[in-house]
Amino acid sequence: LKKIKSFSSLKFKSWSYFVLFALSILLLLQFFQSILFEQSYKGTLEKEIKSLTTQIENIYFKSEDQSIAIQQVNEIVSKNQICVLFYETSSGQTTCFDATNTDENAIYVDGKINFNFINELKDSSKNTIIEIGQLNELSTKSIMVYGIKQIINEQEYYIFGNIALENTEYLYRTVQNQFIIISIIIMILAILISVIFSTMIAEPILSIKDEANKISTGDYNLNFEKYDINELDELAETIDIASKEVEKVDVYRKEFLANVSHDLKTPLTMIKAYAEMIKDISGENKEKRNEHLNIILQETDNLTKLVGDILNLSKYQDGTYQINFNAFSITSVINEATSRFKTMVKQDGIKILTNVQDNLIAYGDKERITEVLYNFVSNGLKHIGEDKTLTINAYISDNQMIRVEVIDHGCGIDEELLPYIWDRYYKIDKSYQRSQTGTGLGLAISKAILEAHHVGFGVESKINSGSTFYFELEQFNSNK
Ligand code: ADP
Repeated sequence: LKKIKSFSSLKFKSWSYFVLFALSILLLLQFFQSILFEQSYKGTLEKEIKSLTTQIENIYFKSEDQSIAIQQVNEIVSKNQICVLFYETSSGQTTCFDATNTDENAIYVDGKINFNFINELKDSSKNTIIEIGQLNELSTKSIMVYGIKQIINEQEYYIFGNIALENTEYLYRTVQNQFIIISIIIMILAILISVIFSTMIAEPILSIKDEANKISTGDYNLNFEKYDINELDELAETIDIASKEVEKVDVYRKEFLANVSHDLKTPLTMIKAYAEMIKDISGENKEKRNEHLNIILQETDNLTKLVGDILNLSKYQDGTYQINFNAFSITSVINEATSRFKTMVKQDGIKILTNVQDNLIAYGDKERITEVLYNFVSNGLKHIGEDKTLTINAYISDNQMIRVEVIDHGCGIDEELLPYIWDRYYKIDKSYQRSQTGTGLGLAISKAILEAHHVGFGVESKINSGSTFYFELEQFNSNK
């Protein structure tokens, strides 16, 4: 397994890609060179013989001093191992400068002119000819002959340049040998660069990995260095943010577990105590027994609600839950909820005021929206102010949405804590006072439901003067 692992490591991969890249470039070069070498060699030689021939022609005809001119021409000819022949057409007079061997000359051998080229130039519609190949029976080499027709001093001249081609096979091999050395150098460079490059990337990744590993041990204080590679710095930052999130959830979860186990244990203890009391003492006394049974029933309800909340939230959050969109009267949902809450809080002297427009028909999941409303109202009642008044408004807002508001004048929420109250398990009051605190799940559930409806929601709150929790709903439009 370790072997396979090292094959898929960043180092091995970048190394192999670099080498592959260098190899393919070398192969490509090699391929083109083998095709183009001969062609480009001939091209170079053609340029050479053309330029040398014209150069000699210029020196020969334009120079003041004939003997100096001849000397210069001989120098060029012997330096370049060529032969240049001047042929005056009307008199047949020839002048030749030659530095070639017999088997390298196709135009002038042993004092004899090869008339093939002269005839060819005569017949040609152009003023120049160029011939390449085995142009002489004696020759063992390829020869290139370049010819020009020219009128000089009112006389017509044919001027020929002759150059032998080196054995291209031999030249090609020389270049190949050089190419092998260059290839070896390039491969070594490719390996070196890839090793440096992969180390440059792999090292920081490994150090990020080591740092991120701390999360699994419960250490959320990560310290990433600056790597000077944007993507890696961003990766480190993302892991850092994620670890802070995990830490937050971890803290909430611990608090939640403490709360829940406390909240589960208290009703169970009460249920057990009252059941024992009925068994031992109040079983015969109908009035007492009923009172105790009622407490047992109420505690059972509390337990059921708690367990229900936990189940609901996990259902909303793992995405298995589907919203059932339907048209429903939010007006009657609010009215029903209000009357139910009113009977519950009657003896505490709490007033619930409603300003609800008649017949507001919303489009959404009636059951879930009712749950949100209950959460907002019960939170409002838990944090009711000294005026002991809770107000519920529902109206069409400027953006043509139905807006539902639940307003209390209680303790309010610190501005800094506002973003957190929608997190699961979050509770501002960390004490385990049962009457005041819930599970910390109510607003998280509400948020999940409202987000699934894709509507606006939120809270406006001021410390010591109260909070307004609101959500919006789409109006039902029968034309849709
Ligand atoms: P809980 O079960 O604790 O009420 P919620 O998710 O419903 O959980 O609310 C989260 C926290 O937000 C509560 O613990 C409470 O501190 C705060 N909160 C919610 N509603 C109000 C309100 N109307 N006034 C002040 N604080 C509120």
